[in-house]
Amino acid sequence: MRIAVAGLMHETNTFTSLRTGLADFTVAEGSAVHGVARWKGTVFAGALETLAKLGAEPVPVYFARALPSGQIEAEAFEAMCRGIADGIAGCGPLDGVCLALHGSMCAEGCDDAEGELLARLRAAVGSALPVVCALDMHATATAAMIAHADGFAAYRTAPHVDEYDTGARAARLLHGAVASGRKLANEWAAIPMLLAGEQSETGAEPMRELMDALRREEDAPGVRSASFLLGFPWADSPHGGCAAVVSGYAEDRERLRQAAARLAELFWAKRRDFAFSTEAAPLEKALDRAEREPRKPVVLSDAGDNPTAGASQDVSLVVRALLDRQARRALVAAVCDPGSVQACAAAGSGGSADLLLGRLDPYAAGPTPLPLRVRVVRTGTVHGVTYAVAAAAGVTVVVSDRRVAVYDPTILEALGLELETFDLIVVKSGYLSPAYKALAARAILALTPGDTNELLAELPYRRLPRPIFPLDAM
Ligand SMILES: [Zn+2]
Repeated sequence: MRIAVAGLMHETNTFTSLRTGLADFTVAEGSAVHGVARWKGTVFAGALETLAKLGAEPVPVYFARALPSGQIEAEAFEAMCRGIADGIAGCGPLDGVCLALHGSMCAEGCDDAEGELLARLRAAVGSALPVVCALDMHATATAAMIAHADGFAAYRTAPHVDEYDTGARAARLLHGAVASGRKLANEWAAIPMLLAGEQSETGAEPMRELMDALRREEDAPGVRSASFLLGFPWADSPHGGCAAVVSGYAEDRERLRQAAARLAELFWAKRRDFAFSTEAAPLEKALDRAEREPRKPVVLSDAGDNPTAGASQDVSLVVRALLDRQARRALVAAVCDPGSVQACAAAGSGGSADLLLGRLDPYAAGPTPLPLRVRVVRTGTVHGVTYAVAAAAGVTVVVSDRRVAVYDPTILEALGLELETFDLIVVKSGYLSPAYKALAARAILALTPGDTNELLAELPYRRLPRPIFPLDAM
């Protein structure tokens, strides 16, 4: 059994002015996928390794993945689609295609990038070859995606710690269909709801119960895979919203339809139960609470400028707020500002530099930098990103020369920072990664302005399907 495996993952924020080019993607063609160290344990590896374990021959084709950011440039999207479609066409005889896609990708002129990719792929391989996709939990279901793929399996954890398992589930779904010679089918039910990831962590209700419901439905006869796709609220898309998607064999279509309807109904019934699973407050209130907290460190998420949901990561508002308060032992990681990194590098460790750091107003058309005199603690490069560690009074700021998710505290430790010496650690993040959760004596989500503003009612949506909860009374 020969299965082509390919992947394309990007979560697209349409509110940022950033654009995403091909150079922003890590790309691997063919077996080079095995050499990308950061992809070990990801959904790509889960699909490839599980197919091999099941005795199939996985044929790696083309893989591309980038940090969430703005719309993908049209030429970059074309190049990646060609990489996948031409690669699969050149594989020789195949029994199936296993893909790992994000599901909330937008390219210039194309709101439904996964639907477009799957339609092209379907046209190339014909209707008989089974195509199964692993998806991010924050995928946005569209009619084209459902029509042109035969089966789906989405992550069931947020933060996402089941990427590998999801790749494995997609691989098993496809392998089972090919081995049995049965045709797969999907049924789905849209849920007219806009939901931020910070209100839908799977460690808290109602998500915990909803994830249990997926597993229950999969135990029912006929259902091979059940998923909730939660959509992506920082995209103004005509496809926006949540969905229940159920895959199984074509002869069980009626059962699949009923299962999708049951799941969507259950999710909708819980719509008022979703709330921030971390304590959340506007910035000044969040800083007041952090100051009063005797346990240290407090870890505060600058949630409006979260690069893991596509924000520009250059808003310096929190730095100014901390300086205004004369904060001590405070750390901010990381503000993206290549010019400031250069200025620090030129000043050298122990030198002083005058920075124009980031932007104070994320919504202003022109520049609004924070003028800041700093003492350079050090500069250094970790995983290919160059950082400057700079101190201004009691505030230490980590500045990066490109957008980066400082998702892992070991990056800061590699820069010589001893995290336990800080009372307050501000990270550009939404919900915290498990490693930061473990570090935090108290975690607070600061509801700050920016490309990933958590207060969805403040976002200038124009193209969403309406009515939609909670923007409209439903
Ligand atoms: Zn996600």
